[in-house]
Amino acid sequence: MPDPHATLSQPAGDPASAAGPTRRPEVHAGDDGVTLASGAPVFRIADLGFYYGAFRAIRGVSMDVAENRITAVIGPSGCGKSTFIRCLNRMNELIPGTRVEGRISYHDQDLYGDDVDPIEVRRRIGMVFQKPNPFPKSIYDNVAFGPRVNGTRPASMDDLVEESLRKAALWDEVKDELKKSAFSLSGGQQQRLCIARCIAVRPDVILMDEPCSALDPLATNRIEELMIELKRDYTIVIVTHNMQQAARVSDRTAFFTAEVTDDGRERTGVLVEFDRTEKIFTAPSDRRTEDYITGRFG
Ligand code: ADP
Repeated sequence: MPDPHATLSQPAGDPASAAGPTRRPEVHAGDDGVTLASGAPVFRIADLGFYYGAFRAIRGVSMDVAENRITAVIGPSGCGKSTFIRCLNRMNELIPGTRVEGRISYHDQDLYGDDVDPIEVRRRIGMVFQKPNPFPKSIYDNVAFGPRVNGTRPASMDDLVEESLRKAALWDEVKDELKKSAFSLSGGQQQRLCIARCIAVRPDVILMDEPCSALDPLATNRIEELMIELKRDYTIVIVTHNMQQAARVSDRTAFFTAEVTDDGRERTGVLVEFDRTEKIFTAPSDRRTEDYITGRFG
């Protein structure tokens, strides 16, 4: 496991090393009985704002992300969910003209500090996207890609590839065809391959931006089961437009919405409510959350 407390400015770490209550989504997993305040958070987010040029996409977001838990980010389209999650590994700053406000600390380090290496940030805080995006390479080379590029030299690349594929619940399906193109896999398998590719560089956090929206229900189910396994080793933040998915897999849920100014000219994403998933889906504190999760809005 990586040392989450190692400084981010160091090079890559040791290689060995619906309308009415009946429409509420049913909460299956998640409530671990731990209060929001307990445990050391991986991220502390304070008054976060984000601009695309002059457009402020989110403002005033404050919340903690707990270690080895699944935090779901839900809300209507355009409320800033993707923008928010991309702030957590500095992906947004790859877009010219953008600006971050507020503070995100990651294991008590300022994520946006001057001495922090954004490449190292993105290795430690990996990301899986909506559409599976394997490289046009073999299954093996997809998984080995990150360790080769970032210069980590595992004692055995074969072992690292196998370990990563096993953790992504894909090994048994591909172990005899590692040299085949990644594109020979089904969509769900490709997404698990992308998860294996992410795991191979030994991250601490996995961000997932609508990871199942291009998948069928069976493949979605596999990924959801996998997420629950992965949280033993990783901290997971998932953006999903699927409330049932948030209710099934997450421990904590953050509900965002877009606030529109009276003149209708500004539309900014805000965090309405953040709590244990069970609380959000059974007894939310804010009327807007209630309206959203019961399908009256959004
Ligand atoms: P969500 O994930 O909740 O659908 P997004 O974070 O994608 O919301 O978008 C929030 C707002 O930011 C939207 O108004 C969207 O149009 C805008 N936005 C997203 N990406 C960009 C970008 N690269 N440039 C300019 N505006 C963007």
